[in-house]
Amino acid sequence: MREKQISLTVKVYDSPDELRADEKELIEEARQAMDKSYSPYSNFRVGSAALLANGATLSAANQENASYPVCVCAEVALLSACSSVYPGVAISKIAITTRGGSQPSDSPKAPCGQCRQTLLEFENRGGKNIEIILTGDKGAIYKLASVKDLLPLHFSGADL
Ligand SMILES: [Zn+2]
Repeated sequence: MREKQISLTVKVYDSPDELRADEKELIEEARQAMDKSYSPYSNFRVGSAALLANGATLSAANQENASYPVCVCAEVALLSACSSVYPGVAISKIAITTRGGSQPSDSPKAPCGQCRQTLLEFENRGGKNIEIILTGDKGAIYKLASVKDLLPLHFSGADL
């Protein structure tokens, strides 16, 4: 038996002011998208925004349904929009923000497992890493260099 160590680096920022201007704008777009969340059942709002390789940005929010399995995460809605509006264009960065309840959130939350797998597919499709920026309404901001950092032992088309 031997052990295999898998490590990842999360860059932690205390303020959006420490980020690049395009990253600050992307966080702001994600926060504005969060206001469009339809989440009457969980009251957990998620907003996401993507910067594409062509310079365009798109954003989306989670959309719940009384039939819970039909709910659509903000990340999945965003990725679907990206490939529908700009097919074949790689995604450079995605900012994701969340708020549970009515109080501002003060910590970043990571995407669910389904979203991680969906994000990985888009990273592989685009042929370049997608930087992931996670933030609440305030507090620390996490930045990861690749979706693979969210899903270290991933499954992809290369495994088929
Ligand atoms: Zn999700």
